[in-house]
Amino acid sequence: MNVIPRDQHCISRKNISDSALKVMSRLRSKGHQAYLVGGAVRDLLLGGHPKDFDIATDATPEAIHALFRNSRIIGRRFRIVHVRFGREIIEVTTFRGHHDSGDQDNSERGGNHSRQSASGLLLRDNVYGTLEEDAVRRDLTVNALYYDSGKFEVFDHVHGLQDLQRKNICVIGDPAVRFREDPVRMLRVLRFAAKLDFSIDPGTAKAIPGCSALLGEIPAARLFDEFLKLFLGGHAAATLEKLLEYDLLQYLFPQSNASLRKDSHALALVRAAMGNTDLRIAQGKPVTPAFILAALLWPAASHLAQHRQQQGDPPMVAMHSAAQQTISEAAQHISIPRRFSQPMREIWEFQLRLQRRQGRKAAELVDHRRFRAAYDFLLLREQAGEETGNLGSWWTEFQELPMEQRLEQAAANKGKSDGRRTRTRRSHSDT
Ligand code: ATP
Ligand code: MG
Repeated sequence: MNVIPRDQHCISRKNISDSALKVMSRLRSKGHQAYLVGGAVRDLLLGGHPKDFDIATDATPEAIHALFRNSRIIGRRFRIVHVRFGREIIEVTTFRGHHDSGDQDNSERGGNHSRQSASGLLLRDNVYGTLEEDAVRRDLTVNALYYDSGKFEVFDHVHGLQDLQRKNICVIGDPAVRFREDPVRMLRVLRFAAKLDFSIDPGTAKAIPGCSALLGEIPAARLFDEFLKLFLGGHAAATLEKLLEYDLLQYLFPQSNASLRKDSHALALVRAAMGNTDLRIAQGKPVTPAFILAALLWPAASHLAQHRQQQGDPPMVAMHSAAQQTISEAAQHISIPRRFSQPMREIWEFQLRLQRRQGRKAAELVDHRRFRAAYDFLLLREQAGEETGNLGSWWTEFQELPMEQRLEQAAANKGKSDGRRTRTRRSHSDT
């Protein structure tokens, strides 16, 4: 174990949340070990500001819970304790042990043992252990550094510091074994490589193709959680490129993967959506998963809508049923909660409504609660090279007008509707 003293690292207690410091010192005062661990130590060493603070300890979940009135034990696959301070939640985990050592000793400490499926997938992992054992159970070397806020020391058992300096994303242990235990680690490898702009260790990279199909075993709800981390962490554009490079997008969104592979307009649209999302996050503006999902699945949905229309469905009917089908197909792989699928549908259907520039309805559209997202989406389609006959800039000007003038202009448009109707070209060139 490599111990780095306080004068040889840059972590300062003033960049650590008071609540996390409080939890650690209380655990220590009761005779337990307690360390800051994971992303927080990594980001502090990189000079960044961690977004949350995770703590590892030798105290069992029950013992932690007993020490903090404001805490609760959560999780089944991994039992952890959440200690709440106002809006901040400090996650406290008991050191994990080797999952093949679920012995008597562990059950005495309240350990729940671990379970593995035939393919090596970890179904449960509640065997407790030491700091060293905990370190090697973590995913990446750069995520397995521990900080002792009492002695100001950093503990490194897996050459994490070296990989941090070399900007290297490396799975701890045999990558193929670790990916079989938990295939989501492959997505985490890509996510951190994109977020930190690190390269992926050759051994880690090499193991991905042989294990990637195991992502098909991951429950749709967990994939959705991971989707949020992949695309709402401020590095969606870089993450998308990694998912394409390692061919993992197919396990999250098979329909999007198919369209992005064969259609440059679809690829441009999704890239633009990701770039836009990152920009908004950098500017502190709100982002919604619904918008990203709408972009990812738009090529599939609009293609299907076009097909329905050719079969004789009126445009809105075609779009409505295409949206329904696209979303239910996607949901077989990744959960899409209704609070996101509903706005997605509306953003898509709005693309048709925005084609009408005449009549009272057009004038009123601007005040609709989904107008802003739908208008942004239209601009994105144009940014991606889709020809909409300047529809975007028309709406840019139109929405600035007071209602009275909008009504006038929309009424004036009515007479010349045919000539002025936009001809939209489809965003894809495939069949
Ligand atoms: P972020 O900045 O995204 O929060 P993080 O490294 O803190 O990054 P979390 O998902 O919060 O990531 O996980 C906390 C820590 O738990 C990780 O740093 C890692 O040590 C460990 N961990 C998380 N997921 C896994 C996993 N699937 N397998 C092994 N270890 C994991
Ligand atoms: Mg974290």
